[in-house]
Amino acid sequence: MTPARVTFLGTGTSAGVPVVGCTCEVCRSPDPRDKRLRPSIFLEVPGRAAILVDTTPDLRQQALTHDIRRLDAILFTHSHADHIMGLDDVRGFNFAQKAAIPCFATAEVWESLRRIFYYAFDGLPRKGGGVPRLETHTIDGPFDVAGVRVVPVPLLHGDAPILGFRFGGLAYLTDCSAIPDASWPLVAGVDTLVIDALRDTKHATHFTVAEALEAIARIAPRRAYLTHMAHQLGHAATNARLPAGVELAYDGLVIETSVEAA
Ligand SMILES: [Zn+2]
Ligand SMILES: [Zn+2]
Ligand SMILES: [Zn+2]
Repeated sequence: MTPARVTFLGTGTSAGVPVVGCTCEVCRSPDPRDKRLRPSIFLEVPGRAAILVDTTPDLRQQALTHDIRRLDAILFTHSHADHIMGLDDVRGFNFAQKAAIPCFATAEVWESLRRIFYYAFDGLPRKGGGVPRLETHTIDGPFDVAGVRVVPVPLLHGDAPILGFRFGGLAYLTDCSAIPDASWPLVAGVDTLVIDALRDTKHATHFTVAEALEAIARIAPRRAYLTHMAHQLGHAATNARLPAGVELAYDGLVIETSVEAA
């Protein structure tokens, strides 16, 4: 195993927190941990890899806040707006690195990306600001990127099949309401688990806190972090009622972990 570091770039649900127009207690909270951008992590292996998971609508701000200046790869979990709409901001990395950025997604996600960001794929000459330059890789099983072994973990997000990712000691399972039978072995023995926990009340496409805790108990990692939280979950109050070894993630949280070298 190789030491690695994960930065939580965003830990909010699709609307972010505060929610536009909302005056609830959490949306008005002065606690910086109650400010949640859209969900994404940045995985770094010093001297080896800088990997971004998802390009949220907040990507520009996330990159500036955390001084992210190069990307070896981008992995996509699925094509919902809160996970892809910052794709155009990849232009900054293209410019800085003078290269296309390798991007990994399922064939289904590529179909959506090609439709939504048609101008990046149609090959037509365009004057002005340019288009994001992406090296397209289709995920159809475990793969290696920038010297890191990546194991896709199929999840169910409502009816939609999407992907989580395992990197050695870490598994990142955002946006899920069920873990298929065949996926439990893929996350067995993980040291650090990051998992979706939207709110306390039942939702069609996301785990509740209680459902996330059930999954955590079954996987039994050394520690677990909840992510993709809605504004019903205030940081301090929610954290105080979680069992030992489980915490709410928050934007800017950095954790040390390990990955499997490829
Ligand atoms: Zn989402
Ligand atoms: Zn609110
Ligand atoms: Zn989603």
